Amino acid sequence: MKIAFIGLGNMGGGMAANLVKAGHAVNAFDLSGDALARAAEHGCAVFETVPDAVAGVDAVVTMLPNGQIVRSVYTQEVFGNTPEGALLLDCSTIDLATAREVVELARGEGYEMADAPVSGGIAAANGGTLTFMVGGSDAVFERARTVLEPMAKAVIHAGDTGAGQVAKMCNNMLLAIHMIGTCEALALAEKAGLDPQTFYEISSKATGYCWSLNDYTPMPGVGASSPADNGYEGGFASALMLKDLRLAMAGAETSGATVPMGEHATRIYEAFVEAGNGGKDFGAIFTTL
Ligand code: NAD
Repeated sequence: MKIAFIGLGNMGGGMAANLVKAGHAVNAFDLSGDALARAAEHGCAVFETVPDAVAGVDAVVTMLPNGQIVRSVYTQEVFGNTPEGALLLDCSTIDLATAREVVELARGEGYEMADAPVSGGIAAANGGTLTFMVGGSDAVFERARTVLEPMAKAVIHAGDTGAGQVAKMCNNMLLAIHMIGTCEALALAEKAGLDPQTFYEISSKATGYCWSLNDYTPMPGVGASSPADNGYEGGFASALMLKDLRLAMAGAETSGATVPMGEHATRIYEAFVEAGNGGKDFGAIFTTL
């Protein structure tokens, strides 16, 4: 297939490279010259405008920072310049309301489109092991799967339009909550006189079992290895967790859901990021306790 890839940053760069490896012809566009230079090294054809990049393609994939940019790229540059019948896939993590609106606008322009956000960080993007959560009809999902598989460990049909973004925001809100809870439990265990490693051995096999404790233990030298063992460098930045929590709070407002723990987690990450810790792994909340 011929695929236009727009937004070749930390995530999109590796994703586009995996499409090239799978034998697709990939047309790349990004506002950053550095990102385009890296895309060229990975075998993408690089273009200076979106209309040039999308001309003659079978599919467009976007991996952009936020909903406002996604809306403007699609409405001002992709629609009308992309051939009729091409599939549009937005893999960015954006707010639910914008995701649904852009798909609706795409339909009005005669395109099939799906929201397809990902779980997995830069290593998974480079390694082709992302999990995609796809929102769209059965027919759109089947088309999307073919495009997404070379970049994926799993491609999951979440439901209709917007369901991919719903899955992503619920997953990451839950992740923030159990990460904070895990940090609190480890700190409490230690302060109350229980060896944290012994607490890990017990709770990771008891009902405290969760990914943050079992697989990404946020206390240095305890449990599973994680960015905690490396000064909280690398991993999943607290600023990105805060972005996802804010999207979840917006989604809760849009859908009328009550999320007191999600709100609390958002406040905790807000304070942590405002204190200058946005670049630290999200498990570094442990250091505040
Ligand atoms: P990034 O900032 O590294 O990349 C975004 C790219 O988009 C940049 O290269 C930027 O130049 C480009 N861009 C911005 N505006 C543009 C425009 N108008 N036209 C063309 N290109 C434009 O961000 P990232 O970490 O790659 O994240 C991308 C998306 O993936 C975000 O929605 C993020 O929430 C999501 N995500 C990130 C991670 C992660 O671990 N980094 C994990 C899962 C999902």
